[in-house]
Amino acid sequence: MSDGAIESADYRQFCAQVAQRETALLAPYAMHGAASAGRRHPEPPHPYRGPFQRDRDRVTHSAAYRRLSHKTQVFTGDLGDHHRTRLTHTLEVASIARTLGRALRVNEDLVEALALTHDLGHPPYGHAGEDALNECLAAVGGFSHNRQALRIVEELERRYPDFPGLNLSLEVLESQATRIDKAAAGLRPLLEAQVVEAADSVAYDTHDADDALRLGLLELPELLEVPLWREAGRRVARRWADLSDKELERAILHELIDWQVGDLLGGAVERLKAGRIDSVAAVRRAETIVRPGCELAEQKIELERLLHARVYRHPQVLAMRRQAQASLQRMFEQFLARPDLLPASFQDRIGTTGLPRTVGDYLAGMTDRFAEQQYARLTAG
Ligand code: MG
Repeated sequence: MSDGAIESADYRQFCAQVAQRETALLAPYAMHGAASAGRRHPEPPHPYRGPFQRDRDRVTHSAAYRRLSHKTQVFTGDLGDHHRTRLTHTLEVASIARTLGRALRVNEDLVEALALTHDLGHPPYGHAGEDALNECLAAVGGFSHNRQALRIVEELERRYPDFPGLNLSLEVLESQATRIDKAAAGLRPLLEAQVVEAADSVAYDTHDADDALRLGLLELPELLEVPLWREAGRRVARRWADLSDKELERAILHELIDWQVGDLLGGAVERLKAGRIDSVAAVRRAETIVRPGCELAEQKIELERLLHARVYRHPQVLAMRRQAQASLQRMFEQFLARPDLLPASFQDRIGTTGLPRTVGDYLAGMTDRFAEQQYARLTAG
């Protein structure tokens, strides 16, 4: 054991108990830390933290994670201070995913590591930024936030002397890869990854409608025309009469999350039983286990249709989108023409990564605020 570490029989026993806790709590179809395939750069095990707990900690301490607090989810900071950022979205996903994960007795540490990783690759300005970078980088393979999250954790983060990236467990990398291509590994994603995917959908459907209401981009009566909201409204009305519009909105939002999580759990429990899923290998062979029931899935599509038509394509959101794309495109061209303006750590990467991808990595890492400052600096005079 390394210098300064506590070494005693009691301490060894304590560490062994920590490891046993996981075995005692998890279902046989969960991804157990002890069964992890390890890391690309092998590391000795930690005395009292499991591999996925370390993954989660590494993501939490990464610069890319901190930057999520100043990145757009759907709406930029210009529209107000109360709506979601990428960070608060990520935390909502982690919270819902942990609830699902705990109830299904899958590995909560892995669930949390995956939830905190899932949106790390988002560039500034949300999907508008992603589309702009995808165009800029078309000649070298384009840009996708899911792929960028992998680049960040495998390569771009520099925090450890022994390896580039965060050297996360192979299960985290594989799960993130299934977000790019569901059949990446030729098998179904781990249940922990399925839980995060489902939680992401619960979170954004609910909070995008919530943010749109708060920002005045949508009105409550419009949402109540959508079956999902109408049914949630009915359920709320059964419990409380005479709520104000604000109270009704909040109660519906809570109901929507609770209802969807209950539906996901109910369906998953049935599929686990019907398919006699008793191992990770069985999860990988089975149809998707954590998914909404047919009725709810259809209702979610209708809500998403409304959000697309009325919120994501709202004139204010579209104006923001155009501005964001123009500024990223202009910065991309400027840095291509003047690579000497890139920070030294990025200039060093040009030889191995190529100039366009290096510029793309630099721009993708920017927060909305930093992108605005850089744009002002580059275009001054
Ligand atoms: Mg997300």
